[in-house]
Amino acid sequence: MAKVAINLATGSLQEKEIIVGIDLGTTNSLVAIVREDEGRRYPVALRETDGYTLVPSVVNFGKQGEVHVGNEARARLLTDPERTIYSVKRLMGKSYGDVQQDAGRFAYQVIDDDTETLVKVAIGNKFYSPIELSAQILQELKSRAEHLLKTPVTKAVITVPAYFNDTQRQATRDAGKLAGLDVLRIVNEPTAAALAYGLGMKQDEERIIAVYDLGGGTFDVSILRIAGGIFEVLATHGDTYLGGDDFDRVLGEELLRQQPSLDMKQAAVVQALRLTAEAVKKALSDNAVYEGEVAGRPIRVTREQFDALIQPFVARTLDSCRSALKDAGIQAKDVNAVVMVGGSTRVPLVKDSVRALFGRELFDALNPDEVVALGAAVQADILAGNNKDMLLLDVTPLSLGIETMGGLMDVLIPRNSKIPSKAGRQYTTQKDGQSAMAISVFQGERDLVADNRKLASFNLKGIPAMPAGLAKVEVVFLIDADGILKVSAKELRSGVAQTIDVQPQYGLTDAQVEQMLLDSMLHAKDDIARRALVEARTEAEQMLEVTQRFLNKHGAMMSEEERVLTHAHETAVRAAIAAEDKDAIHAATEAMNVATKPFAERLMDAALKAAMKGMQV
Ligand code: AMP
Repeated sequence: MAKVAINLATGSLQEKEIIVGIDLGTTNSLVAIVREDEGRRYPVALRETDGYTLVPSVVNFGKQGEVHVGNEARARLLTDPERTIYSVKRLMGKSYGDVQQDAGRFAYQVIDDDTETLVKVAIGNKFYSPIELSAQILQELKSRAEHLLKTPVTKAVITVPAYFNDTQRQATRDAGKLAGLDVLRIVNEPTAAALAYGLGMKQDEERIIAVYDLGGGTFDVSILRIAGGIFEVLATHGDTYLGGDDFDRVLGEELLRQQPSLDMKQAAVVQALRLTAEAVKKALSDNAVYEGEVAGRPIRVTREQFDALIQPFVARTLDSCRSALKDAGIQAKDVNAVVMVGGSTRVPLVKDSVRALFGRELFDALNPDEVVALGAAVQADILAGNNKDMLLLDVTPLSLGIETMGGLMDVLIPRNSKIPSKAGRQYTTQKDGQSAMAISVFQGERDLVADNRKLASFNLKGIPAMPAGLAKVEVVFLIDADGILKVSAKELRSGVAQTIDVQPQYGLTDAQVEQMLLDSMLHAKDDIARRALVEARTEAEQMLEVTQRFLNKHGAMMSEEERVLTHAHETAVRAAIAAEDKDAIHAATEAMNVATKPFAERLMDAALKAAMKGMQV
């Protein structure tokens, strides 16, 4: 089967072209590709002429409109803090509420302009979304890669932490798109790290892998299970503010204890102390003792001293590992491989502690700063069709869902879900005695089905007569490994069922998928407003329908006055619906509810009593 050669996102044949792997990190980012040398394929990180592979994930917006990314931007962190953005990854897909308690940690201004749910960053009088800021970094990586490879780079695999939710993953994908990259796959960082070591490349292999990732400012550990080429995240745990920066801080405090007369009021001294602390730390990864100076004064730190200083932090990471193991329902001895990621795993105490906890040798031969990008490149190589032994699991390029009341799109399988995939949801009937239910399947990101692509529809017939809301219709979406969607609907009380096959990706070109995503971003605000209107209208229409049913049944027991009042409210609700004014519809529905409630309750009581009497007879 030609599965490998088909791009499931577009249905088109994939040509051999370069697909890069990108590690879009909190502190640093980098690009890697797979090289072929004498028949052997292996991943390498792209290296600038200065030898560096890492690009600091920092963006500076100059007053003249110029944008700096990477080292140039990092150099401005101290001189131009308000216009220099770092750690944007911490803001991806987050609302202001999510990051509010962290806002004090950023030197730049994180804001919520009230109209959008997602957070923005204010620079001067301009607002930037984390997606736009990440896109700046990605654009820089793209152009560096193009420069080094001397070929256009338009396709990429980008990594994200395993704990990223769907919104954060979408945001990352959108950032790629904005940077002119077709993001073929979003891969979990721990999965990429395992792939870089070739773990999980064999079809028949089943293994449990722990990935320990300790960077500059964040720590996380993931427990993965690989079976048949499928990576499953069993558990993740971590601390979003724990890393090498903490080691630098406590080491800086130690240096200050050795030289208490250092003038910490001088920014240059503070800066020198911080930089020296980091240098001492790095040196102690390879040496037992460091002897040098800070601001012209002698200092001396042994590895033992350093270990004692950082011990509490290392202990915390081990606690996280134990929690992750517990969440995964396994013990340390069940782990077959431990992969080390992040610059801070070079610290000997860290290595020794992790080795001791899991009781096995570590996978740490690759550069821990590059290993995630290398794995992303391996994944990219598989997607490019160069590694045919590997099972290819792809993702759905657009969301799949069905039409619900008022023409709203109800998503069952969100875009970027990996396939095969299955999702189900229960629906019910809207009308008394309703014997059929139309199931219409749509693909797209907009809130109203009218703006999305209709893929198929069918009628579930033969639902036995019952009051509205009682039937239980379960709709199940199943996408198999070939990207074929099977939609089935079953009324659970009666067992009436029907199934159809749909081919969701057929006929959509890359450009069309792109356009649909772009539309969904452009119309996000409109869509929210329209969804609110549709929901208000649906509720009002239901209210009118229930009232009509009520009048038909119990109208005879109402006074003339009550009938006139009800009618007046009905007219008001209809007028509000016709005017398409969400707030007016809400107000009119609510007013009708309040006005009719007293006699509705009285009549219900009376009806109930009558029914009880009837039962007693
Ligand atoms: P990352 O976020 O993965 O780039 O990790 C960067 C962190 O690794 C920073 O805190 C660095 O100071 C730290 N780091 C880099 N090299 C070393 C080293 N040789 N020994 C100890 N820590 C290091």
